[in-house]
Amino acid sequence: MSAGPEKVIREEIRALSAYHVPQAEGMVKLDSMENPYRLPESLRLEIAEAVAQAEINRYPDPRAPALIKRLREVMAIGPEYGVLLGNGSDEIIHIIVQSVARPGAVVLAPRPSFFMFSLYSQFAGLRYVGVLLKPDFAFDPEAVLQALAEHRPAVVFISYPNNPTGNLFSEDAIAGIITAAPGLVVIDEAYHAFARKTFMKRLAEFPNLVVMRTLSKLGLAGIRLGYAVARPEWIHEFNKVRSPYNVNVLTQIVAERVLAHYDVLDAQARTINAERERLFGELRKLPGATAFPSDANFILVRVPDAARVFEGMKRRGVLIKSLHGSAPLIEQCVRLTIGTPEENRRCLAAFAEALAEG
Ligand code: PMP
Repeated sequence: MSAGPEKVIREEIRALSAYHVPQAEGMVKLDSMENPYRLPESLRLEIAEAVAQAEINRYPDPRAPALIKRLREVMAIGPEYGVLLGNGSDEIIHIIVQSVARPGAVVLAPRPSFFMFSLYSQFAGLRYVGVLLKPDFAFDPEAVLQALAEHRPAVVFISYPNNPTGNLFSEDAIAGIITAAPGLVVIDEAYHAFARKTFMKRLAEFPNLVVMRTLSKLGLAGIRLGYAVARPEWIHEFNKVRSPYNVNVLTQIVAERVLAHYDVLDAQARTINAERERLFGELRKLPGATAFPSDANFILVRVPDAARVFEGMKRRGVLIKSLHGSAPLIEQCVRLTIGTPEENRRCLAAFAEALAEG
């Protein structure tokens, strides 16, 4: 008789629960930081024409020359740097973590931060060290410097702005960490379009810096494209770990076409920012809720009972994310993604009603 999973699958994998994606059919979906806007009709037709020409009988070109050329232009990436493409930036985190996974190696990140940093570290058998933020979610440079000295991490991940807290850490404090780090520092700029602050311009200063971004929050979550920029010698190594055809033909074509109209995405991001500020002002007026300032396309809010607010909003057709129980400092917190003005109106009404029920 052949063995079942309990004999074959690693204990640490069996102990995990699968990443849960909640059913959102028919709901106002404000749980995962998507851009709520579709592309204009003319651009959708342009994509359709480009896709009609795609040679989907062939494997994709792993060098993705047209897409990388366009990315370099639009994101002002200098020719002296290499670009790594991923099936979402999730895959880039996975690639980087696997590349450094010597026995006993450490990955370090602020806590709370993006869950995938720790999950991929676990998969690769690495030790993960989370350094607590200050209670107001500010970066704690002394604590991180001390942890660097103690644990000598192979990689430090810093989400800039931070998910799930939404704030940008001090640029000077991060620069100090990059200088002091014994290994790589990955600045995860998933929310760059909203925060408009970047370490991309500082790549020349720091030989151990990787800047990572995604098109997901910009309006292209469905095609899965992330990218990382660093000195070519780093990208050269990461490329060996990457699956050869990780970014498919259709993703390459669609991303290239949409990036040619980056102004459209940028205008959407500006609209989302304006809505964020409006919603933040409204949330601040609600007794019993504490909304935290955000530089991203979501707002973290502390409520008296996160589970009740989550359920109350769900009953009213609005799906958000409850973070209660996921990490310290964010107890009884929920995260609201910014939607269209109409979605935000429904979100705010459902939030206020659910809060009043509690
Ligand atoms: N980094 C951060 C900080 C994120 O919040 C997310 C998505 N939630 C990602 C990376 C991954 O994004 P994607 O895989 O869609 O590129």
